[in-house]
Amino acid sequence: MKRIIIASSAGFCFGVKRAISIANETAGKAADEERGAGRLPINSLGPLIHNPQAVEELEKKGVHVVESVDEIACGKVIVRSHGITRSDGEALAAKGVKIIDATCPFVKKAQEHARSLSREGYAVIVVGDANHPEVKSIISYIEAGTPTITSLADLRESSGIRKAGIVAQTTQSFENMMEFVSVALKIIPEVRVYNTICHATVLRQKESVAVARKADAMIVLGGYNSANTRRLAEICSEFNPRTSHIETAAELSPEMLSGVSCAGVTAGASTPEWIIEELVGRIRTIWKEEKIQVSYYQ
Ligand code: SF4
Repeated sequence: MKRIIIASSAGFCFGVKRAISIANETAGKAADEERGAGRLPINSLGPLIHNPQAVEELEKKGVHVVESVDEIACGKVIVRSHGITRSDGEALAAKGVKIIDATCPFVKKAQEHARSLSREGYAVIVVGDANHPEVKSIISYIEAGTPTITSLADLRESSGIRKAGIVAQTTQSFENMMEFVSVALKIIPEVRVYNTICHATVLRQKESVAVARKADAMIVLGGYNSANTRRLAEICSEFNPRTSHIETAAELSPEMLSGVSCAGVTAGASTPEWIIEELVGRIRTIWKEEKIQVSYYQ
């Protein structure tokens, strides 16, 4: 009998579920207002989650994606789980735009640590992708004039720093953060570390690796613009060379399953449940078998 093993933690994490439910609630209230006094625009600054299909669903409900604060004149803006920079928040408030804050509480924690470290005179090392909106939002909370480092190269070249604090982008790997810690300890006398890596990410990575090891082929589902999905695909391919990263079920080709009797499935934090269900349906169609065992790995 053929088997499909799905990582239990595949799909929406707590922060994304929360952001989607805040967006749905805001859109629902706006629909009520429309029946009454008239509707103000609802925007999200950047896509609410890194999944084009889920963003499309929200668009149908009236949540429009804009790329910059300049495009928002009035109405409401939903802040996504990555958070926004302090200056964007201030610019929106100055325009009288109502801010609906769906920043994930774990990202908020990283922002708060960055701010308090800088206020206490620590240089701040942010482990993460400097171009990622979450890292930009964390950095924006660091007080002006504080030495701020985001790369190992810059950390190695730094000099004269007496004390530094380390925070991480929530989706970073523990190993990467530890590399920063180990370099910092060699050159900076006092180092304070806040482990701001999100447990949901660690758990998803661990489960996905376990599934990838068991499966003949591994399918990683999620937006191509989703950093955590790309990272999942990377990690899984280390353990299973037949790992494919696809965005929708329609992209699953019969070749990806050729000779496979156990297919592993995982999905990034911003992949909706219905896309995972569609993938299982597509595997069933390709396999054309009556009996396929589907199980969840924990
Ligand atoms: S991955 Fe973690 S930190 Fe990021 S949104 Fe989800 S729960 Fe929050």
